[in-house]
Amino acid sequence: MTGRQPRGALQLSIRRRFLMSPQEDKKQKMLDRVAADNGVAIVVLDENSREVSVSNNNSICRSLTASPEFAPRCAEYCGVAFGNTLSGSTFKYECYAGLRCTAVPVADRGKRFVAIVGRTFNSADNYRKATDRAISDDWSTFPPNDFFENVLIGGSEHVLERAAAELSKFQVTSSEDILELAPPSPKNPPKKSKIEVAQPEPDTITALIEKFKAANEPVAKEPEPVSEADARRADAIALRALYGKLASLSYEDACAAALEFIAGRTGSTSLIWSERKENRLVPVISIGSLKDEPIRIGITADNQRLIDAARQERPVELRERIVDVDAKRSPRTLFIFASSVGGEIRGALGVVGAIDDAASREIALFCRRIGPQIEILKLRREVSTREWLNRAVSRFNESLKRIDADDFWTHVTQVSAELIQSERASLLLHTDPTEGFRTKAAIGAKINLFSEKAIGERVARVVLDDGNPVVVEDITRIGIKAAPPSWKYKTSSFLSYPIVIGDRRIGVMNFTDKANGDAFNERDLELLQAIAPQIAVAIDRTVLKDQAGEFEQLSVTDPLTGLLNRRYLEKRLIEEIQRSKRHHFPMSLMMLDVDEFKSYNDTFGHPAGDTALKMVADILHGILRGDDVAARYGGEEFAILLPQTTLTEAAAIAERLRQRIEHTEFPKRRVTVSIGIAACSNEIETPTDIVSAADNALYDAKNHGRNNVRIYDGFGKPVNERFH
Ligand code: GH3
Ligand code: MG
Ligand code: MG
Repeated sequence: MTGRQPRGALQLSIRRRFLMSPQEDKKQKMLDRVAADNGVAIVVLDENSREVSVSNNNSICRSLTASPEFAPRCAEYCGVAFGNTLSGSTFKYECYAGLRCTAVPVADRGKRFVAIVGRTFNSADNYRKATDRAISDDWSTFPPNDFFENVLIGGSEHVLERAAAELSKFQVTSSEDILELAPPSPKNPPKKSKIEVAQPEPDTITALIEKFKAANEPVAKEPEPVSEADARRADAIALRALYGKLASLSYEDACAAALEFIAGRTGSTSLIWSERKENRLVPVISIGSLKDEPIRIGITADNQRLIDAARQERPVELRERIVDVDAKRSPRTLFIFASSVGGEIRGALGVVGAIDDAASREIALFCRRIGPQIEILKLRREVSTREWLNRAVSRFNESLKRIDADDFWTHVTQVSAELIQSERASLLLHTDPTEGFRTKAAIGAKINLFSEKAIGERVARVVLDDGNPVVVEDITRIGIKAAPPSWKYKTSSFLSYPIVIGDRRIGVMNFTDKANGDAFNERDLELLQAIAPQIAVAIDRTVLKDQAGEFEQLSVTDPLTGLLNRRYLEKRLIEEIQRSKRHHFPMSLMMLDVDEFKSYNDTFGHPAGDTALKMVADILHGILRGDDVAARYGGEEFAILLPQTTLTEAAAIAERLRQRIEHTEFPKRRVTVSIGIAACSNEIETPTDIVSAADNALYDAKNHGRNNVRIYDGFGKPVNERFH
């Protein structure tokens, strides 16, 4: 869309331009209502393509069209639709962001407008692509709360057509006092229904819309007695109130609110909401007799029976398998209603007990309408967890940078413990196989450290041999005796994490007693996973210093520059690429090569060359962030791994580096560098791929006169004209 104004003052000016008569509010409300009822966005543009009214706009559109980088891409779609529609015909399309839209011409007192209706995802694939881009790709620079504030999912073609039809039938005649409803179709002669706006009845337009919707319902319905119609109306209001509430709730609270709502409507008190994890349906929250019960839903989200039932808007019936043979009750029946988003089952609502057909229909409909909302809340939570994780890891890395050698062991244990809010932690080192574990630090243990170590070591041995971390909710469950009460452990939950560099297992960190008394969970593990490589490097370096050269061949540090060495980088690259793929984190790699360095050496001698290389390394060290991994890759070539960094961010960092080096005064002469960058993507997914892609870009930088930054575009040739 072109000529877009910033939001903010927009609403007021909209009303002034588009709605100048006393009908303004009425019209705006009508648009808002059609948008809300159909779950679509409606944006009205005037002849100059300026937005004059916005109802329920998709936040993805809002973010993209306000961005100088992406607005032109959007304009290629909505702009074209606008052009085609202004001449009077309807235009259907899928936009740049993968949203379904229909542009319809609208007339208002002789002026022409275009209403863009829809902006909803109606395919799970498009929806996932968009969220992937927002989480880890080129859209990840948008603040997630704004970007996901209002995402519209599930708008079927039918709903879109209905909303578009509804809009195209409204037009304002030259008489400013009359809002006229045009004939529904050429076959049905127009019922001249005019509404006097001078003294409007409050609900007349709503009633008309309701009437119109009823007339367009796909399934023919028996005429209902008035009281039932009233009840339906009350239902609609209650449902709308729930929708309004959901947006402000957390994901779990929203699931709970949905269950309470259904409990109140159907009389079934035992309900469960489950979410899709891979193919399983995993409980999120349950109420009534299911509350606090460990429940496993024995049907997968890709089960054909469930898919068929979802399509027919009916539940699948599951029988409880009672494990406890002494239980004196008969098995319960759980009706599973699938909740689909964009044609894919994303969750399910389970109801215990008998339900009649009417209730069954109502719940199925409810799931269809509520599913997308809940999915968005889930997504928002995922994004904010990731944001939080990134921030926590950055903070950790910064504090790791500042730790001094004296108190290294205690400090590293302390900052790790603080990160996962553990009150007791220990660090056991195992660098010498003949020695067993050595406790390098223990914090928070006010009593008998020796005895505690005995427990810690047993778990540590298992963890180190296995190479995988262990999270234990209750230590007694893995056959280890709990500590005696006198030791005053708050919980019997335990987290043990191996410290590994490549294939060397050098130690284990143990954490107990979470500050809030909870058990450790997957989230704590994820945090540790993110910081473990940095801890490992820090520990390795300290061990190396302690043992003065003994481990040199195992070392991770380059002796000339103090940066990490190539062997370490290659190993770390494998881990980071895996992590990037698993969590959809972005990840970039920079290859940096000093320009014309042979002549520097030839002119000023090798020692002067060494000094210059050290200075370049120091500049890298100063500019890069704590979690970036800078390594000397070979002679005068450096590789920098940038975890959780998009190509665009990496380019900005590279450019800063390039400029800093160019403007630094070196002892002998000016030194410049060329930089090539590549990022993980569908095409680039192995360490070899990314190194050779970045290398290609570096080669291209050299070919473009050196002292510049080039990006590998993912299609075989570097294209970037921005940095020179
Ligand atoms: P280009 O801009 O194409 O990179 O030109 P260049 O001269 O830098 O490229 P080339 O690869 O031909 O030369 C690299 C030189 O870097 C060769 C060697 O003299 C120097 N070099 C490599 N390792 C070291 C080192 O550890 N110390 C010193 N002083 N010089 C090194
Ligand atoms: Mg060079
Ligand atoms: Mg070179």
